[in-house]
Amino acid sequence: MVVIGILNLQGAVSEHYDISEKSLKKLGISGEVKEVRYSDDVKGCDGIIISGGESTVIGKLIAKRGIDKAIIDNKIPVLGTCAGMVLLAKKTDFKQDLLGLMDIEVKRNAYGRQVNSFEKNINIFDKDFLGVFIRAPGLKSYDESKEDIEVLSVYDDEIIAIKQGRNIAISFHPELTDDTLIHEYFIGEVLKCAE
Ligand code: GLN
Repeated sequence: MVVIGILNLQGAVSEHYDISEKSLKKLGISGEVKEVRYSDDVKGCDGIIISGGESTVIGKLIAKRGIDKAIIDNKIPVLGTCAGMVLLAKKTDFKQDLLGLMDIEVKRNAYGRQVNSFEKNINIFDKDFLGVFIRAPGLKSYDESKEDIEVLSVYDDEIIAIKQGRNIAISFHPELTDDTLIHEYFIGEVLKCAE
């Protein structure tokens, strides 16, 4: 029984909830998806998803509520999408609270403002996937000396999905499509960590 927590502090969480449930069903895995808001709820999860939203707001609440400590102490795998990617980074171009779990540096709003949002067919895990980019962060650099870092997807010479150890950062919004590919992959990784 796997428990996937969708961190509900700010931002678009309901789509992650729905697609995580759909992914569990598709995988035939018994599990539960729940929205989590406080560190005690987070502790009970096998994996955490951090949605898009305002990373400054989400980061502040993560720090204030000790959610960072709950994730780190319990070694809980995190899937961070868009603002979630920003929060997973060690460094951004803003002064803000970060989880800092990945040796990556990101630039916020790298593709411009809301009006510059776009959709593109990208490739990930050797499959086509619709990438929805909304004020997406760009990956400026990652620490190439870290052996546990794996680039998962590149579009237009930009890294748009990257994994380090048990954490995955995606600059677009996989929850805004019907495609369960990325959520299924994350759940698979969560299961590996729980073994
Ligand atoms: N630009 C936002 C941030 O950096 C992220 C936007 C999003 O999550 N769609 O916090």
